[in-house]
Amino acid sequence: MADILILGYGPAGVSAALYGLRAGLDVLLVGKDAGALARAHMIENYYGLVKPLSGPELAETGKNQALALGAKIADDEVTDLFFDGSEFVAKGLSGEYRGKACIMATGSARKKQSLPGMAELEGHGVSYCAVCDAFFYRQKKVAVLGSGEYALHEVSELLPIVSSVTLLTNGNPTSATFPDTVTVEKRQITELLGEGAFSGVRYEDGTEETFDGLFVALGSASASDLARKAGAAFEGANPVLGPDFQTTVPGLFAAGDCTGGTLQVSVAVGEGAVAGLAAIKYLREKRNASA
Ligand SMILES: Cc1cc2nc3c(=O)[nH]c(=O)nc-3n(C[C@H](O)[C@H](O)[C@H](O)COP(=O)(O)OP(=O)(O)OC[C@H]3O[C@@H](n4cnc5c(N)ncnc54)[C@H](O)[C@@H]3O)c2cc1C
Repeated sequence: MADILILGYGPAGVSAALYGLRAGLDVLLVGKDAGALARAHMIENYYGLVKPLSGPELAETGKNQALALGAKIADDEVTDLFFDGSEFVAKGLSGEYRGKACIMATGSARKKQSLPGMAELEGHGVSYCAVCDAFFYRQKKVAVLGSGEYALHEVSELLPIVSSVTLLTNGNPTSATFPDTVTVEKRQITELLGEGAFSGVRYEDGTEETFDGLFVALGSASASDLARKAGAAFEGANPVLGPDFQTTVPGLFAAGDCTGGTLQVSVAVGEGAVAGLAAIKYLREKRNASA
């Protein structure tokens, strides 16, 4: 088990890792790719860059810097996060990762699509966390919006509890293998239906289908998705964060683009530093309290 488990190895995750490693702690970074930097052609507005660097080059330099200081790095997509009473457990597609403190640095979820009616119905039949809310849909007909591994994870949480699950791919190809008991609906969705509470969807051809609940699992799990699963309190769509970027779950922090605000490398690195230092302080206080 690591002292600090960091989800994401972009600028925020690596920055947090550097502080943890220099404090002599075991740090494990779990990420699925180079994040936003993979799409950034050139970065030239970051401190100290005499010549611009490509996003992928900067990402690789950061990862190598963490490795050189002794970080462990795992390539995996995390679909679940919880505190088991003594440590944080992140479940990935290929393994399970544990840490005494956890920093979510999973980047921006800005690419996630929204459908007409979705924002208004959040918390009223539209959920972002199967493990949190499946119980409310015992023996009910639910839908999962998504098409990949994260959607499969949410489907697997729901199947033992609900009466039926329909996967709404919204016209996207599936990139995971779903159980035969799941109905796969490939038509595009034009609108979520329901006044005050979600009641179904309207498809591109104008037909409507009723559902008792909708679970949104687009793309991969975001920091908000993971924070919900870990039981953090929310204000609107975002987890409540203290000035040290700690969520309401002690020892669980967030940093970088995933906290919203200014989506820049400098800000991500700064938040990573603050969260990294706060995680060190949290672990020291925990150790002193149990000594
Ligand atoms: C096209 C483009 C151009 C940009 N240009 C600039 C620029 O010129 N200057 C500038 O300062 N900023 C620029 N940015 C913004 C900058 O790239 C981001 O602000 C910065 O990368 C944020 O760092 P981060 O660590 O918070 O997130 P990211 O760099 O996005 O890293 C997120 C990490 O989390 C991982 N992750 C996400 N979900 C999961 C999951 N479920 N399981 C496991 N791992 C997961 C990803 O694989 C990745 O490792 C640009 C961004 C884009 C898209």
